[in-house]
Amino acid sequence: MRNNMKRNAGVLAVLLTGLLTASSAVQAGVEKLYILNCGEGVVGDISRWSPGVNEGKSMDFVDNCYLIKHSDGWFLWDTGITDAVATMPDGLKPADPRAVTWKRPKTLASQLEQIGVKPEDIKGMAISHTHPDHIGNVEMFPNTMLYLQKAEYQWPGVDTKPRFKTEHPVTLLEGDKDVFGDGSVTIISTPGHTPGHQSLLVKLPKTGAVILTGDAAHFKDNYENRRVPSNNFSADETVASMQKLADLQKKDNAQLWINHDKAQRDTLKLAPEYYE
Ligand SMILES: [Zn+2]
Repeated sequence: MRNNMKRNAGVLAVLLTGLLTASSAVQAGVEKLYILNCGEGVVGDISRWSPGVNEGKSMDFVDNCYLIKHSDGWFLWDTGITDAVATMPDGLKPADPRAVTWKRPKTLASQLEQIGVKPEDIKGMAISHTHPDHIGNVEMFPNTMLYLQKAEYQWPGVDTKPRFKTEHPVTLLEGDKDVFGDGSVTIISTPGHTPGHQSLLVKLPKTGAVILTGDAAHFKDNYENRRVPSNNFSADETVASMQKLADLQKKDNAQLWINHDKAQRDTLKLAPEYYE
């Protein structure tokens, strides 16, 4: 009798271990991806992004942030236009009228709150590059590890002031980076728009692979025709980076989500809905 109980307990332990291993294997990696509205803009003259094409024409832009739930913690990609713009009725006007007038119909803070995520819950964050429409809310997360390329961090700003608080924790990269060490979230170095521009490859369990472009291209037509905006840091690097993303897209059978492309984003689900 005692022997039987012992044996049964042993069998049970083996079964439980097996179940736990199986369930943790299923849960590891990326669980969800939310697209957050991080700004809506109107471009004065779109040919600034596509020299010689559509001169003088206006175009609508969107600006996205992406919140990823990984089994090891929350990760935020880009932070958008500063939430302060939400209180400006006419939006944030650019110095150059051909550039973008940005509005903030929803704050990043309110969208995180709706999902039930506090800024301190976000373990890691990365930005595609250091332009204001991508780093507007970095300091909402003062203790979150920020991943960016060393070349971007060291790039002098217009006023030579640091772009982030010097005490903000940073991991400086020199190339691609597998963030969680399991291949599910990979920062892809795509310089050109700025010296240390980067994109993000996310592998979702049901949706599959998705590449978040940052500003490697601003909209589909520019990507497909390899057009380089006039204010980019390096035209050659921009074209090489677009090709790098195209190769990756093919290799991983990935969707390419272009950050500022309104026509594309209109076809996607926004938070609180999410992709699995
Ligand atoms: Zn941008």
